[in-house]
Amino acid sequence: MAVENRQAEASLDTLHRIFTVPEAPDSTLGRIEKEISENLNAFLQTHIAAQEKPLTEIEKDFSCASVPEQPSFVSEHTHFLLEKLVAQSVHTSAPTFIGHMTSALPYFLMPLSKIMIGLNQNLVKIETSKAFTPLERQVLGILHNLIYGERDAFYQRWMHSAEHSLGAFCSGGTIANITALWVARNNLLKPEGDFKGVAQEGLFRAMKHYGYDDLAVLVSERGHYSLKKAADVLGIGRDCLIAIKTDENNKICTEDLQNTIESLKARNIKPFAIVGVAGTTETGNIDPLDELADIALAHNCHFHVDAAWGGATLMSNKYRPLLKGIERADSVTIDAHKQLYIPMGAGMVIFKNPASMAAIEHHAEYILRKGSKDLGSHTLEGSRNGMAMLVFASLNIISRQGYELLINNSIEKARYFAELIKSDPEFELISAPELCLLTYRYVPEDTQKALAIANDEDKQAIHEALNDLTQYIQKRQRESGKSFVSRTRLMPEQWDRRITTVFRVVLANPLTTPDILSDVLKEQKQLALTSQQSLPKINAITARILSQANLSH
Ligand SMILES: *Cc1c(COP(=O)(O)O)cnc(C)c1O
Repeated sequence: MAVENRQAEASLDTLHRIFTVPEAPDSTLGRIEKEISENLNAFLQTHIAAQEKPLTEIEKDFSCASVPEQPSFVSEHTHFLLEKLVAQSVHTSAPTFIGHMTSALPYFLMPLSKIMIGLNQNLVKIETSKAFTPLERQVLGILHNLIYGERDAFYQRWMHSAEHSLGAFCSGGTIANITALWVARNNLLKPEGDFKGVAQEGLFRAMKHYGYDDLAVLVSERGHYSLKKAADVLGIGRDCLIAIKTDENNKICTEDLQNTIESLKARNIKPFAIVGVAGTTETGNIDPLDELADIALAHNCHFHVDAAWGGATLMSNKYRPLLKGIERADSVTIDAHKQLYIPMGAGMVIFKNPASMAAIEHHAEYILRKGSKDLGSHTLEGSRNGMAMLVFASLNIISRQGYELLINNSIEKARYFAELIKSDPEFELISAPELCLLTYRYVPEDTQKALAIANDEDKQAIHEALNDLTQYIQKRQRESGKSFVSRTRLMPEQWDRRITTVFRVVLANPLTTPDILSDVLKEQKQLALTSQQSLPKINAITARILSQANLSH
């Protein structure tokens, strides 16, 4: 323990110690380590503060902008972290935290992640990663197999081939999507005759060479914002990421897609990639992938499937058919840090054709030599950690059967919750769960009746007040600290595409119980009654509409 007036000092001697001598078991750090390995949930429960503190208050603890001049004792600093950081962080592993795609992690990942950090391998090249490189290639092969199911000989031939790559491991879905569109762009604007390809000569000369006026990528209006970033960094421009209307189930309208492609082509704009979403971030719906594959084929477009969140459903033999057509995609994004229960920072993009990634290959003399198996020659990122090891371990420890149970359980829990919402006269289900994600809102019973007969103006007024109310309830619920659902804004078909604020729930934590779900609804009803502004307004309009209706009878 640090004594009050003892001051840590910077000397080579003490610096040697932090590289060689572990903290004593009874130090703060040692105690935390023990607590975490014994019961992480209990540790988090006792350390994360339930009451929300405003961010502006928290900022005060992080306001000094100079590099600390003097060293601190590890134990002392750990106290600071516990009090100021851990206490004010978010309990993403709580079974009542059902608002985001980040969920609880299995315990075995804690000690295993220490191996990862302890070894500190760099996957950019074999010299700094050795066995981690074949391990990562195997993980990519397993995911390729999960999506495309090629024969064993295919994997024996390509998985470890120096000149080929079945995909890239990266920090998340964003980089995965960028990589997919990067490959698609470079394969479209490839070297030809004197032209050395877009990778070498850039977009200006590529467009001149191929004679296009512009390029376009098409995705439904539910597409993830990372695709806009991709369009931006690839020089295509955000305006050229074209959003196609969705139907009442939040799935892309394929007729609109066809028409848009025709009209782009008529204007000498080359639509070069179609992106299907398998599990949209806001509603969890899956585009008709087979139809998209047909359209992409007919128009010679790269077909990418963004299955960052939903891709793990392929583990379930029962629900896998929901993603039918994904096996025809040229590339697929899957985030392991979503429904594969891996810590943050684990994304993958998989390519059907082992030769596709040659389009972005990059070599350098001192590393990534031609013909080497260095993973860095096919990744956007340079230095990368050995996160693939945790995916590998989870695949082995949990297994496909285990993942199937987790996935099935999540989907069935979401269906149960949807029934609970539908059977409650004070709630309205906005989007039904296709996977384990659903949206809904609180609407008083009488207001539901009033909405059914209201004129356009009243309908709009009620909707706006309901939007305020949903926002109010969601914020209060988060602040009260017992549970967390997220909120988003949709334009549901059933409400004439009016902007509608909704609660959004993702049911991925296996420890979330039916009782927790009932309690969430109960608390939301109670919070609604405390609203001083929106609810009275809603009730007043409701009363007027219903009494007018009665008079006219
Ligand atoms: C989460 C998500 C992404 C982005 O992934 P990150 O890991 O956050 O970069 C992309 N697409 C979809 C559909 C997602 O759900």
